[in-house]
Amino acid sequence: MTAAVVELAPWRHERGVLYSPALTELGLAAGSTTRPLGSMGGSATPSHDALHARAALAASLGFDGVVRVTQVHGSGVVHADAPFASPWPRADAVWTERVGVLLGVTAADCVPVLVAEAGGTRIGAAHAGWEGTTRGVARRLVAALRAEGAAPSGMVASLGPSVGPCCYSVGDERAQMVRERLGAAGGRALARRDGVTTFDLWTANVEQLRDEGVGRIEVSGICTRCGGANTWSRRSGDVGLLNLAFIGRRA
Ligand SMILES: [Zn+2]
Repeated sequence: MTAAVVELAPWRHERGVLYSPALTELGLAAGSTTRPLGSMGGSATPSHDALHARAALAASLGFDGVVRVTQVHGSGVVHADAPFASPWPRADAVWTERVGVLLGVTAADCVPVLVAEAGGTRIGAAHAGWEGTTRGVARRLVAALRAEGAAPSGMVASLGPSVGPCCYSVGDERAQMVRERLGAAGGRALARRDGVTTFDLWTANVEQLRDEGVGRIEVSGICTRCGGANTWSRRSGDVGLLNLAFIGRRA
């Protein structure tokens, strides 16, 4: 197995946005929004409000718009040249090699996984909740980039804010499904404490990225529920209100 470098690096807070240190180092606009910038999608937000919030974010980062997909808690990966017209494709990961294209995935407690080639132009974003994680969406995103000629060892991946193992308990049925879908890796991501089973989405996604040979993996370690970063979290009652994780290379 390739010896990936895995580091814990809290994303840096600046005017309502949390930025990934590892991806910022590559010159990319990469991070996640928090509550003060408004909900970036979701059932509880009028769609024109979310559209305005995303447009304002894109403009503040120096982009014309945000590429969005209709997230379905699966493992589908699509390529984008520019923001999709409505209806957006149904997928949970999106990638591009284009400069000036900002990719976005919405999440409250699900893990946003941002990936970039350190010495190339390909970038991608995935949305990995328990469904996407157990269906291997992060793995499939890296595989899609590899299929286009990107070497995983030269990739940098970062896991953004999401519900952490501190706050994510699962019932027996879901725990069983995690074991069935992920095998031994699923077992390693589950823990039993005080009669409660927790699922560590960060560990499960790091394992997938490492297995795919990604050279450098950053984990923000910010829990959307208890991490104090002012992020939307369903587990705090913000149902249907979403942060937007983004990655783009400025023109
Ligand atoms: Zn927590």
